[in-house]
Amino acid sequence: MVNHKKINHYFPFFLLPTFYFLLTVFFGCAVPMRKPPVIPRPPVAGEIKPAKPIKEIIIKIGIIENTGDVAIGAEDDFFINDLKTNEKIKTAADNIHVVRISKGKIIFNKKQFAANIKIIPQNDKKITVDGKRYKGNIIIKINNRKKLTVINELGLEEYICGIMTKEVAPSWPVESLKAQAVVARTFAIKNLGKHASNGFDLCAKTHCQVYGGFDSEDERSNKAVYDTAGEVLKYDGEVINALYHSSCGGRTEDVRNVWSDSLPAGRQAGKTENPEYLTGVKCGFCEKDKWYNWSAAISLKTVGYNLRSSGYKTGDVKKIKTVGRTSSNRVKEILVEHSKGVLWLRSNRFRMAMNPNILRSTNFTVKIKNGVAYFRGHGWGHGVGMCQWGAKGMAENGWNYKKILKHYYRGAEIINEGQ
Ligand SMILES: [Zn+2]
Ligand SMILES: [Zn+2]
Repeated sequence: MVNHKKINHYFPFFLLPTFYFLLTVFFGCAVPMRKPPVIPRPPVAGEIKPAKPIKEIIIKIGIIENTGDVAIGAEDDFFINDLKTNEKIKTAADNIHVVRISKGKIIFNKKQFAANIKIIPQNDKKITVDGKRYKGNIIIKINNRKKLTVINELGLEEYICGIMTKEVAPSWPVESLKAQAVVARTFAIKNLGKHASNGFDLCAKTHCQVYGGFDSEDERSNKAVYDTAGEVLKYDGEVINALYHSSCGGRTEDVRNVWSDSLPAGRQAGKTENPEYLTGVKCGFCEKDKWYNWSAAISLKTVGYNLRSSGYKTGDVKKIKTVGRTSSNRVKEILVEHSKGVLWLRSNRFRMAMNPNILRSTNFTVKIKNGVAYFRGHGWGHGVGMCQWGAKGMAENGWNYKKILKHYYRGAEIINEGQ
């Protein structure tokens, strides 16, 4: 949030340099908790870092955007805080209250509020928002589209607890859960303020990290969060961009091979800076993922349609060729021959255009037969940073979370910022 930015200047310890880009991770539903892929963000200049020790960081998560009304309930009596007048109204938890907008004002319990409101529970009780329970406070504000934005304001560690089971199964080995907790915490801190223009830090969707609130918490995964509380990954004293993915298919990928400048003009790959900690490494522990081997069939007609939908000016697709391989065996580039010419594109862009839930990785081969492209590949996700299924396999083989993280993020250190 804006505050982070301001205060940052007074806490050089947390100052981080410009980072490459905002990315997100793409996972699927091989286990129900994994999140579906999303299109990576383009590079952004600058970022907002934590201004306080981790244990004091309060994070704002956008849980609902652009809604006309929202149902609020509570486990106990609560307060409605008018953020303009700072008036606090004690409200009984005897009902579900539908909050809506009328004539540009928020209506709660038949009372009209001039400005945005904050719902504050008592004694750590939970507030329910459309039937889902949340720790911390709930802020309801009118956004610039004259709709409601609902924000959950809570401590960083509590937030991490609410995303764990959305990423991995809580039944996974403890050390892999701890590795996930550190990575998710590092990702959150690195991306604080990403949604500053929307009035919160991170969204609750795949775009940032999927967050399910209190109802998605699990005792086992919560313990992994609290056992690693405050721990983040740093490289050269800076919080890293802790990318992760579902399964790598054997070897993780250099970040520069996934995201870089567009190819068609010069086709020079690898322009993106490639930090040591996002350099591909051998994994060899993710064979148990059901998507370690996958196949997909997409008609050439659909390939063309998908490319056009993503903004590429292609005609009828005739051929698809893979060009070059990275050291992790992922396809470097795709050459599409179509009725209007040829299209070169980076394999990751091709994957995103096709549907990353179907074309699960860029580690594939393709054969065309009777107007259909048949893909066979390995792993799910972009392949950069920690391989979640690999971390699980390592934990099953006796690795602790520190060894796992140091394997995937080469040269990175685990630092406890919460002390
Ligand atoms: Zn987001
Ligand atoms: Zn792997």
